[in-house]
Amino acid sequence: MNAEFYAYPWDLSDEGVDTAGAVLADATGPGGGVLLALSYHVSTYFAPHNPVRKLYYGEEGAVYFATEESLYANTSMRPLISEVVTGSDYMMNLVQGLQRHDLSFSAWAVYYYNHHLPQAFPDVAKRDCFGQPCLAQVCPAAPEARQYAVALTRDMLRQGPAAIQLESLSYLPFRYGFRNPKILVDIAPYHEFLMGLCFCPHCLAAADRAGLDGKALRPAVAMYLDRELRTDPSAEIMNTEISEQIEGAFDGRLAAFLNVRLETASSLFEQVAGVIHDAGAQVSFFGSLDPLTTGLDKERILRSIDAVYTRIPGTCEQTSQQVSAQRQSLPGVRLHSIAAPGTSMQETRDRIAAQAAAGVDGFAFYTYGLLRQTQIDWIGASRDVWG
Ligand SMILES: [Zn+2]
Repeated sequence: MNAEFYAYPWDLSDEGVDTAGAVLADATGPGGGVLLALSYHVSTYFAPHNPVRKLYYGEEGAVYFATEESLYANTSMRPLISEVVTGSDYMMNLVQGLQRHDLSFSAWAVYYYNHHLPQAFPDVAKRDCFGQPCLAQVCPAAPEARQYAVALTRDMLRQGPAAIQLESLSYLPFRYGFRNPKILVDIAPYHEFLMGLCFCPHCLAAADRAGLDGKALRPAVAMYLDRELRTDPSAEIMNTEISEQIEGAFDGRLAAFLNVRLETASSLFEQVAGVIHDAGAQVSFFGSLDPLTTGLDKERILRSIDAVYTRIPGTCEQTSQQVSAQRQSLPGVRLHSIAAPGTSMQETRDRIAAQAAAGVDGFAFYTYGLLRQTQIDWIGASRDVWG
């Protein structure tokens, strides 16, 4: 069992990687590591111990290293390189700094949850059944986006990570990436699910290749939603499981369309995981494994995953049950707890100890730059639990 911290590159470079590395090594103890964001979505960050900026308005989905142009020869897409990247050796300096403190380095990689890419490259934007682009999500069916994911992965591997944590390398749900949403009315879960499906030309072409008339399904779903979304949803539709409503919907064409999405997203996931394994690194995963919204076939992609990082909900008393439930649903992979400090040193220790006793394989504390030194010290005071 070991401990890692998630960290943002700017928090290490603003502070000085040796200063930050010493704090991180002290808190994690021997065998510690850092999951460093190499490709990340927009957020607004409050950074209490950052000496340069307490508030950081993040960029629209950026990468935090100098990219290698030649790797992107098969795609027109290019990542947005963050303004914090000061030179070609920016990431190498951070990685070497972590290594000086005996900290392992893994890449924390967000792929298709990105506000920059769908605006800069409209062809890869997810599009709903009405043809409207979702400017926070890239569609995994777009050939350019698939090549981009492979190129980005190879580019991240150049930085020498022990593992890459794959996040949002899939379809994503309706609300993923909304900013200041203004939604005043109830939307039935089934309607929200349909609104979240991508009907971009690439998804429709994939449906056509599978013998399904995607171009006819799109207006059928649009017509249905246009009618339904105008009226308050009935109690029945609010309370019926989405999977039940999918059965037979649109003459069975919806279920067939969802099967096409399963192949689209899962095959890409396998391809990217294969690139990582071929380079001798490990694949870890964070996110939803709901096949309906992500298109990820859980059983299939678990074979490509070495470790799943997940939050363990519930009180200390419920931890054991929660961990065994997670283990049962995630066979054959290591289970790492994404842990947050509690409101005191004792509570922090109790949580960590309960999860260790329940048999998690490691801890990943979220997130170095967002915590105060007090909380980092509470975590460090518990390191005998995993050490
Ligand atoms: Zn699509």
